[in-house]
Amino acid sequence: MSSTGEIEALIDLMAKLPGLGPRSARRAVLHLIRKRALLLTPLADAMQTVAATARECLNCGNVGTGDICDICNSEKRATGELCVVEDVADLWAMERAGVFKGRYHVLGGTLSALDSVGPEELRIPRLIDRIASEQISEVILALNATVEGQTTAHYIADQLEGQVRLTSLAQGVPIGGELDYLDDGTISAALRARKEL
Ligand SMILES: [Zn+2]
Repeated sequence: MSSTGEIEALIDLMAKLPGLGPRSARRAVLHLIRKRALLLTPLADAMQTVAATARECLNCGNVGTGDICDICNSEKRATGELCVVEDVADLWAMERAGVFKGRYHVLGGTLSALDSVGPEELRIPRLIDRIASEQISEVILALNATVEGQTTAHYIADQLEGQVRLTSLAQGVPIGGELDYLDDGTISAALRARKEL
């Protein structure tokens, strides 16, 4: 490799990150090299640790560094309320808003006949198991307001009908909007004004 080959390789990898293109990756790498002690070395260490330990919670699908995540482990979160989200980013958005005190269930996507994504691929069987084993009284469907999100919400509602109170986030979630892009106040309002299904 040339004397800049490794650095170019790092820039190419950084450019693959969401929100970063080749230009900003180049700028970020230059910044990291200049702040080697303050940023680059701690970042490299943190990445190595996360690469070795990050995994999905066996219960809910959240990402953490243990088999069971902190939320599932916390007795305080056993409120009987379970919030169903599509993606870990949505869970983190809800946590950032700080209004929901129960537990989560991360589906890992939406139903899609086109991409052959069925209930088995989405942790829906696990969701149904949890209703009984964790004494869940309310399931809040916080799926995105996309066609796929709403199709998935209807499927889950059909599966759980009569077993548990079913609600969904109120208006405030824009059509096609993803939870992760909403500000905390909008998420809080949508949760407080949730409606029965
Ligand atoms: Zn969990």
